[in-house]
Amino acid sequence: MKADSYWIDTAPAFDGGASGPVPARADAVVIGGGYTGLAAARALAMAGARVVVLEAGRAAHAASGRNGGQCNNGLAQDFGSMAGAYGLDRARAFYRDFDDAVTTVETLVRDEGIDCDFSQGGKLKLAAKPEHVAKLEASAELLRREVDADVTFLDAAETRREVASDTFHGALLFRRSASMHVGRFGAGLAAAAARRGAQVFENAFVSRLEPLGGGRYRVTSTRGVVDAERVLIATGASEKGPFGWFRRRIVPIGSFIVATEPLPGDMRRRILPGARTCTTTRLIGNFFRTTPDDRLIFGGRARFALPGPRDDAKSGIVLRRAMVGMFPELAQTRIDYCWGGVVDMSADRLPHAGRHEGLFFATGFSGHGTQMSVHLGAAMAAAMLGTRSDVVWDQGRWPAITGHYGKPWFLPAVGAWYRIKDALS
Ligand SMILES: Cc1cc2nc3c(=O)[nH]c(=O)nc-3n(C[C@H](O)[C@H](O)[C@H](O)COP(=O)(O)OP(=O)(O)OC[C@H]3O[C@@H](n4cnc5c(N)ncnc54)[C@H](O)[C@@H]3O)c2cc1C
Repeated sequence: MKADSYWIDTAPAFDGGASGPVPARADAVVIGGGYTGLAAARALAMAGARVVVLEAGRAAHAASGRNGGQCNNGLAQDFGSMAGAYGLDRARAFYRDFDDAVTTVETLVRDEGIDCDFSQGGKLKLAAKPEHVAKLEASAELLRREVDADVTFLDAAETRREVASDTFHGALLFRRSASMHVGRFGAGLAAAAARRGAQVFENAFVSRLEPLGGGRYRVTSTRGVVDAERVLIATGASEKGPFGWFRRRIVPIGSFIVATEPLPGDMRRRILPGARTCTTTRLIGNFFRTTPDDRLIFGGRARFALPGPRDDAKSGIVLRRAMVGMFPELAQTRIDYCWGGVVDMSADRLPHAGRHEGLFFATGFSGHGTQMSVHLGAAMAAAMLGTRSDVVWDQGRWPAITGHYGKPWFLPAVGAWYRIKDALS
């Protein structure tokens, strides 16, 4: 078994990184070379800006190279609760922006000719308990009436035809959701940004930001110092660097994935015949999908720990147990890959974008950023260029999480609380 992301291991390496020191000046500096930063850099370069991307490690190797490859539409939260909290119009705007985000990825893949198996096969949200069925059915009715006529409720028998498991009691089908090979997408996006004229500096850790007035900043990195007219913070769940304000608003949470060996015969088509992406209704739930080379990619918040060799392996054991519980015929199936990544969780589990002390930012994707980070990165590029001021995730005020100063000391308690809620709901 490889302790590595299946996606990164099976994607071509991005070899278009800039060489030499960073230039002394740039129109825009993008800090972070994940999907958010790369999509922003591409859009800025296409508009004619001189763009520098400063990435501490390798481009698209953090969350962007380690996720579940689910490019889903629909909100993670219940639409009715969102409408209650934010009003119907805003909830609709949030929902529709996820639809648009899937379209943004689809368009980008096509325009840049990225070979990443992008396929709009739909998503199933699976009822993990009989008690969850009525809620899903009501949710389907509300969604169809208010925002998405494409959503369908599936009863237990219909769900069984979609997922060959006795674990689920019903499902919602979201037809616009997609899947893709996120490693090939990341490498393709980085190459596209570079081809469009952005200078992508890898191994360029940013350690200092000095305001120069009017939104201009001097940015110090391990590859040199650059003065920027505009700066975008696209650092995800970064635990290092001068981003204290963001760290008080983002909780880094570990999420883990295993990839099986290629399943023999027609097993892949038997267990998930529609090749749809799948999530479950539990708070500490699972997400899974298959790949064109016949593997099952199976993930979840297996442990409330941050990734690392020991915790990845332990999480792999928990995930394998859950996978076999769902699909007993996989009891003898080998696990080929096991890896973890860090999710940038916000308190309301929604993305946040805007401007703080002149710095533009887009973060807090809360485990639903494969599509939204690409979309919001491009939207923030337009905001930086002054051509857009209506980004729906720019909610103005973004309060810090009380008691959170960067180290998520409260995670074990949150994990325990979620487990209790899962047991009771
Ligand atoms: C295990 C896992 C599974 C997931 N599954 C899904 C899924 O199936 N569907 C979905 O929609 N979303 C999923 N997500 C979420 C999705 O991957 C992210 O929302 C998305 O990739 C965020 O992109 P990003 O560019 O904002 O952040 P990242 O990809 O994390 O990029 C941030 C970059 O900033 C760099 N950086 C940080 N600090 C500095 C510094 N000081 N100087 C320079 N650079 C710095 C980092 O090195 C990193 O490369 C998952 C996430 C994880 C971890």
